[in-house]
Amino acid sequence: MRGFSSGVLSCLERERLEEELSEARNRGRNIMRLRHLTHPERMVLEEREQAAQTRLRDHDAEHGCQR
Ligand SMILES: [Zn+2]
Repeated sequence: MRGFSSGVLSCLERERLEEELSEARNRGRNIMRLRHLTHPERMVLEEREQAAQTRLRDHDAEHGCQR
């Protein structure tokens, strides 16, 4: 009972990366709700979100666990 569970389950690494991405998104939104962000602050948040997104995409490409 290990390994190929018909591709429904994604791997743990991918789950972690997805969590990272949604965390980055939520954090940005929450902060923006609380106060007005300066432009550099917004850039940092966007960069962080994009980095998480890139890591997830790279993982998909390298690992192919999404198929
Ligand atoms: Zn994977």
